[in-house]
Amino acid sequence: MDYLPVFLDVKGRDCLVVGGGSTALRKTELLLRAGAKVTVLSVSFHPRLTELAKQEALTLRRKSFEPGDLEQRRLVIAATDDPALNARIAELGENKHLLVNTVDQPESCNFIMPAIVDRSPLTVAISSGGRAPILTRLLKARLEAMIPANFGQLAKLAGNYRDRVKKMLSRQEQRRRFWEQVLSGPPGQLMLAGQRKKAEEALESALQTAARATGTSPGFVALVGAGPGDPDLLTFRALRLMQEADVVVYDRLVSQAVLELVRRDAEKIYAGKARAAHTLAQEEINHLLVRLAKAGKRVVRLKGGDPFIFGRGGEEIESLAEEGIPFLVVPGITAASGCASYAGIPLTHRDHAQSCLFVTGHRRGDRPNLEWEKMIVPNQTLVIYMGLLGLADVCQSLIRHGMPAETPAAMIQAGTTPEQKVVIATVATLADSAKKENVSPPTLVIIGEVVRLHGKLAWFRGTSQ
Ligand code: SAH
Repeated sequence: MDYLPVFLDVKGRDCLVVGGGSTALRKTELLLRAGAKVTVLSVSFHPRLTELAKQEALTLRRKSFEPGDLEQRRLVIAATDDPALNARIAELGENKHLLVNTVDQPESCNFIMPAIVDRSPLTVAISSGGRAPILTRLLKARLEAMIPANFGQLAKLAGNYRDRVKKMLSRQEQRRRFWEQVLSGPPGQLMLAGQRKKAEEALESALQTAARATGTSPGFVALVGAGPGDPDLLTFRALRLMQEADVVVYDRLVSQAVLELVRRDAEKIYAGKARAAHTLAQEEINHLLVRLAKAGKRVVRLKGGDPFIFGRGGEEIESLAEEGIPFLVVPGITAASGCASYAGIPLTHRDHAQSCLFVTGHRRGDRPNLEWEKMIVPNQTLVIYMGLLGLADVCQSLIRHGMPAETPAAMIQAGTTPEQKVVIATVATLADSAKKENVSPPTLVIIGEVVRLHGKLAWFRGTSQ
């Protein structure tokens, strides 16, 4: 993050704007909207400033800037059309530890002003750190369209009830659930429709019901597929559950970008599972899920790809089912689909492959024990999960059991993420290429004629190719 987003309380505080043109006007209007006491210094003033000065906490001083003008200020905005003067004001302000902003000169600012979607008291601030103002504007336009005009009223309503709800519902978790239900349920909808009175009645009755409800509500576990890495590949349901969870138990395969989308206050537990260093044994994970759900938590068990494809998801919900804990499974895009799409390798193709087989290169015990005759079938794509460790063995066995040595093969490392790397070889050269190219987990292996299409169909290359 280039800047720390904060909201400043400038009510009744002395703020200085240097400059009297239209930019100075815009900044002055903003400061006034937030209740600041504003002084504008300039040798001439935009007519609207003169007008505003008649009704608002605004003083206009017709003079040029002098360092003494910074005395007793909290915040200064240099908005003259002289960049050198703006920079000097910024430097003097910085020396005095003031908040300084110079218009269009981010290098001399110690704070920048975001684009704003104003549904006061609800305010959305957007910034690209000065890098892409147009993108910021596009996003603002989208948010303006998306956030109903009455959203601010809804925030006010919630604000009015905040203390009472706190008194009546003693547990934080209880309050959070209450607000989630109220804001997205009937009271919220009525408020957005401008029915203030009815909204208040609905809220009041929801509050009474919530206060009467005793005990903890039963928790549940959602076994959620997080996809192969790119957060855009999450399902809506996955995202919703991630944002409503109390606890998220996640695997090593879940990408950082996906984790960022988990509700900020949710407890996050790393359950590991690097090949050698299983951080929590599978049994411990099963117990953990049961314990959390029994404590009334909404648990999301977040797994890379699809939970039911080489994810041991089945084992985890088996223990939940035995304990009578409610659970649901949310499918995710499995590595084979994600990696194949992003590498431009169709898993099936009318001309090259009429079937596709997913196998794991990793088995209980040391050596993969695969059914070779099922794997060596003409016009079939073979996808190997967890195949890197035993790769040399597997490739030799494939050739020994009759697969043509020149069959094309691909390794896709960190598929769908910005670090995606694709290495193309043949079954004969795959293991050597893996060493040469330093291929590391997570890597998916695809073997078959379809790999030839990579050159033509790849559209996503990641950064490190
Ligand atoms: N349930 C997961 C698979 C878990 S097994 C799924 O459906 O995708 C772990 C293996 O999946 C890794 O060893 C690797 O072979 C593969 N894998 C998972 N994510 C990957 C990614 N982003 N890129 C390449 N391979 C990946």
